[in-house]
Amino acid sequence: MNAEQLADQDQALTKPCREPRCNAQIGELCINVHTEKPLKHQAGHLVRLRDAGVEHAPWDVRDLRRGD
Ligand SMILES: [Zn+2]
Repeated sequence: MNAEQLADQDQALTKPCREPRCNAQIGELCINVHTEKPLKHQAGHLVRLRDAGVEHAPWDVRDLRRGD
């Protein structure tokens, strides 16, 4: 993840995740529901990012074009 995504992750950790089968609590990283390991390429599940007020999601196409 880039610095912006890490900042998004810090913000996401202030809220619990409501993604089914993830249910990360405040301060816990979201997990990949298939592998049960922490997400590596996303700051958190979309629902959690929205709950935490993260303004643009890390999988936004603008990030893909930025190439970092
Ligand atoms: Zn989650």
